[in-house]
Amino acid sequence: MPAGAMQQPAEDTNKATKKPMSLIYQINRSKKRRNLALKVARGNLEVQAPWHMSEAVIAQFVEQKQDWINKHLNRQRQQLDNLMPRKWRSGERLRWLGQPLKLKVSVATRKTIERYGNELFVTTTARSNSEREPKQTIVNWYKEQAMQWLDQFFSAWSTAHQLNPTSWSIGDFTSKWGHCTRKRELRFSWKLWLAPEWVVLNVVIHELCHLQEFNHSKAFWQLVAQHSPDYEAAEQWLRQHGVTVLNNQYLDFTDD
Ligand SMILES: [Zn+2]
Repeated sequence: MPAGAMQQPAEDTNKATKKPMSLIYQINRSKKRRNLALKVARGNLEVQAPWHMSEAVIAQFVEQKQDWINKHLNRQRQQLDNLMPRKWRSGERLRWLGQPLKLKVSVATRKTIERYGNELFVTTTARSNSEREPKQTIVNWYKEQAMQWLDQFFSAWSTAHQLNPTSWSIGDFTSKWGHCTRKRELRFSWKLWLAPEWVVLNVVIHELCHLQEFNHSKAFWQLVAQHSPDYEAAEQWLRQHGVTVLNNQYLDFTDD
């Protein structure tokens, strides 16, 4: 889902008079869509609408759903407000498969990265400011580790059924966790491996099921349920934590 540049709803000065706020939202039209749907993502509202629906009808729908929208927008904005931008410095916390991983950064003559237990030791070279920031070293480490996790997963994955990809890889998506192509290639965001392992597993199975059902039909979800009975909890987990825990731009302050 593209994170469109959207503005805040009208200022809260209306609060005292209880006058309804006028919301600013992005409308995404689709020729396939029959009904209106609302989506609150990263503190913004998006409306998914059928191709020819008039803006007046859309506005009326949004107004009817105002309470629901406000509840979700406020919750997400609060979550985002509580987050501190990540600086990739010593003492900050990352996660690997849901487990806290404390970052330890020091300067050395070359760049290294090594995990010992729940600490991640990174060295940077101090020649320039950009080299002092270990972000790229850490992201590369995640990509390598995630790839190893996938290799291991697929070496144990049964080839008896039809759910076998031609290849798998790790990418940098910001708007989705996984992706599956018509050529049966699977691609996942390295950020997924910040989540607990059962959530990672569910996303991988979700994409694998697309190898048989290239859609989100009832048949697709039945197939997912067959291979991953707790998929609903995983989807719910990602909806709840996608904004915070899995956003590598922010420090994660959720306490265990
Ligand atoms: Zn899907």
